[in-house]
Amino acid sequence: MLERLLADVTPEVGRVLDAALDGRELGPKDAALLLRAEGADLFALQRAADLARAEDAGDDVSFVITRNLNFTNVCYVGCSFCGFARHRDDADAYDHPMETLIAKTRDAIQRGATEVCIQAGIDPRKDHTHYREILLALKAEFPSLHIHAFSPEELDHGHRKSGMELGDYLRWLKDAGLGTIPGTAAEILDDEVRKVVSPRKLMTERWVEIVRAAHSVGLRSSGTVMYGHVEKVEHVANHLALIRDLQKETGGFTEFVPLGFIHEKNILFNHMGARPGASTSEDLRMVAVSRLFLRPWITNVQMSWVKMGPKLAQVALLSGANDFGGTLMEESISRESGADHGENLPAEEMRRLIRDVGRTPVQRSTTYEVLRRFDDPAEDPPSLEPQEPAELSGPTRWRLQEERAARVARRK
Ligand code: SF4
Repeated sequence: MLERLLADVTPEVGRVLDAALDGRELGPKDAALLLRAEGADLFALQRAADLARAEDAGDDVSFVITRNLNFTNVCYVGCSFCGFARHRDDADAYDHPMETLIAKTRDAIQRGATEVCIQAGIDPRKDHTHYREILLALKAEFPSLHIHAFSPEELDHGHRKSGMELGDYLRWLKDAGLGTIPGTAAEILDDEVRKVVSPRKLMTERWVEIVRAAHSVGLRSSGTVMYGHVEKVEHVANHLALIRDLQKETGGFTEFVPLGFIHEKNILFNHMGARPGASTSEDLRMVAVSRLFLRPWITNVQMSWVKMGPKLAQVALLSGANDFGGTLMEESISRESGADHGENLPAEEMRRLIRDVGRTPVQRSTTYEVLRRFDDPAEDPPSLEPQEPAELSGPTRWRLQEERAARVARRK
């Protein structure tokens, strides 16, 4: 029977999966082939990626307790996939003062956060000093907090305003408390695609220049890809090759994070004919191919529960991913593009989801040091255990049903 399962895998896909599991490096054509896998090929791809994950990263699934801080949504760049940016005169435009950022960070730390992730729109009225002031203000209040902040697009904006040499500018931010940077604003690192989806954003060469310079001054970063819009699988394959080459050179990527395009509330889908985001199969292929293609250079593959939702995130854990990402506490960038999987996933819920697929939850730092292991399921808090359904009296049940109906009616 098992032989029949394998017999349905096409020989070419089988050959590439064999090579990956033997530790041989895949080429972009191999990645493109796998990114089209369907049916038995897709199952084999997921299984191969899961085996590679077990070899390279073990059975722990890590997560980080973090809070997103989006200090302003005013942005002039105009990326077609973005539902977050506002014009400064829009009624819902905001620009949080420092006291608000400090208050939100204090709240996050009280809830166990070890990191804040700061990203925002590009407001032309702000310059390089604003980024540094945020770092200095937060570090003055919370010296041991890890600040993961400023996409390459924000760093490009600040650097151009600063007039400094790029390495000096990045060191200037590091000295003020910058710990690591998000490798976002990557989307697809191919100018053919960038000129369609975000022509006013930094192009591939500049993204690579900034990330390479950051790594060289000791600012590590994540690596990302945004897929499921107008790109072809060859673009994604070349993107992965570029990230892998940069990692061979610098060793600065802490993890790779595939990010599915959220389509509902932006012009890329509604007016420019993009696909409506990734399908379930595409999400799983992307995670699995990232695992196999980037090995052994990048061993942490994170899936995005914000984009996929918790249940598909669990399947991604069985398809090559070993990291659950962050709790986020306040997610607005994906939500305002139409994502509806919530803004916060409490650490306890992450632990339950991880345990549910037979793996061990581990709280980590931004740079993947283990902060706390949760080896023993018996130590899980009662909220993680299956509960006996409570007996409700008739009147209580009716009251709860009426309250729920009223809530649903209010939402309509
Ligand atoms: S993705 Fe970032 S840079 Fe692009 S419009 Fe949105 S906030 Fe601005």
